[in-house]
Amino acid sequence: MPHTPRSGNATAQRQLSCLWCGREIVESEAGRRRRYCRQSCRQRAYENRNSLKGTGIPDDSVVLSAQEAADLADRWFAARCAAEDVAIAIEEGAEHAELAALSKTLLELTREAERLR
Ligand SMILES: [Zn+2]
Repeated sequence: MPHTPRSGNATAQRQLSCLWCGREIVESEAGRRRRYCRQSCRQRAYENRNSLKGTGIPDDSVVLSAQEAADLADRWFAARCAAEDVAIAIEEGAEHAELAALSKTLLELTREAERLR
């Protein structure tokens, strides 16, 4: 069963994410759904598609440099450490205020980890 956030607020819904950088796309006015969060992402994606032509690599592939992949892994590692901090604090019977602060950090780091680049 897929996990769904307990909270019913809009930010807990899975937002559309940019096909280039993975950041959430803030929907502007009604109309065509945007696929990129900003013009520079659209441009980079276009250049990437062109550079993949004739290579046999599907043009919608997400290609990360070694550095980008390492940075992504680092962001997820930071999020895991924050999750472990929450688990330890709960185990140790930490005060509500400390748990609130730790979970706020966890939320910020997981949000940061959602982006690809
Ligand atoms: Zn983007």
